[in-house]
Amino acid sequence: MTSQSTALRSRAWVEVDLDALARNALQILLSAGPGVGLIPMVKADAYGLGMTAVVDTLARALPEAALYAFGVATVAEGAALRAHGWKGAVLVFSPVPPGEFEPAAAAGLTLCLSDAEGVRRWAAAARQAGRPLAFHTEIDTGMGRSGFRWDQAGVWGAAVAALARENLEWAGCFTHFHSADEPDLGPTRAQWQRLEQSLATLPPQERPAHRVVHTSNSAAALRVPGMGELVRPGIFLYGGGVGAAVRPAAVATLRARLALVRQVEPGTTLGYGATYTARGTERWGTLAIGYGDGLPRNLGPAGGEALIVGERVPIIGRISMDVTVVDLTRAPTAHLGAVATLIGADGAERITVDEVASRCGTISYEILTGLSPRLPRLRRSVDA
Ligand SMILES: *Cc1c(COP(=O)(O)O)cnc(C)c1O
Repeated sequence: MTSQSTALRSRAWVEVDLDALARNALQILLSAGPGVGLIPMVKADAYGLGMTAVVDTLARALPEAALYAFGVATVAEGAALRAHGWKGAVLVFSPVPPGEFEPAAAAGLTLCLSDAEGVRRWAAAARQAGRPLAFHTEIDTGMGRSGFRWDQAGVWGAAVAALARENLEWAGCFTHFHSADEPDLGPTRAQWQRLEQSLATLPPQERPAHRVVHTSNSAAALRVPGMGELVRPGIFLYGGGVGAAVRPAAVATLRARLALVRQVEPGTTLGYGATYTARGTERWGTLAIGYGDGLPRNLGPAGGEALIVGERVPIIGRISMDVTVVDLTRAPTAHLGAVATLIGADGAERITVDEVASRCGTISYEILTGLSPRLPRLRRSVDA
């Protein structure tokens, strides 16, 4: 445990288990098969858990040869990685708006390009910077949001190669699966076949051996190994399940203090809309966390619970911006200042991020990236 001020644990916080993160990364590496490298996705501040600590942990935990690059979504995220001191490759996966090519070049990032116009702009940025710049081409095999068409590689392949010839390095080709976490893996296999066909259609001289191919998010890396020489895990690293037999180690724990404990009279109403009324004499606890911290507001009506003194207690009434009320009837020993767990383990009980997400009708990704800056992130690691 790193030494961190207890003041950070006075209200509400997120604990990030960096050892569990490292174990999840090694698990992906093992499942992906021999010789497969990783592009860990650290976009959106490493899914809300803190990019710099995640990058340091993975750079330490993974064999150097297995860490091909870090993946981000924006040029600003890539520049932040550089500012943190990461010297290796950084891939920017989302399409880059017109004004961001020059800053991307200045930060030495590798862009993922989806059309000839993007390649043209990247070539112009390289001319201006006076040095070659790298890019990967995204190939759209069904995701639809970006990428060159998979069935027209004969056309765009030659055009991209011509545009790139002078001062760009065409370093990789990739696609993105839309349904790798669904029970039916048919669509994923079909997308992989489309990618293979597309690559086979590229003009032969445009297929240098050094160009890498990658396709797989966490779900595909674990469920359908053998598609590409690199994989791009995100959510599994951070403890989100992906419908694979292998489960991730829990990484994020969300906790809050019990700031008030009160006995209320029958008929007492609670919260905005007074949607809850005490049936009898009840013991209510007010937790110092709300939707302003990223606790989903619809968790309450969705049967959301917290763990206090190892017991599951129900969230009652509407979650407010700053506070959430639980019924402590089942946890009579819970005292003022006790720690409640909204995501994570307390004693033998555990609430997973996937449980919270499915109650709220969303995915673990949205829960984690929604945890707000108001929550301190406390890193836990035996060797940090
Ligand atoms: C975010 C992202 C990933 C990671 O997906 P997970 O489902 O979180 O593993 C992989 N590839 C691309 C292009 C992404 O944008």
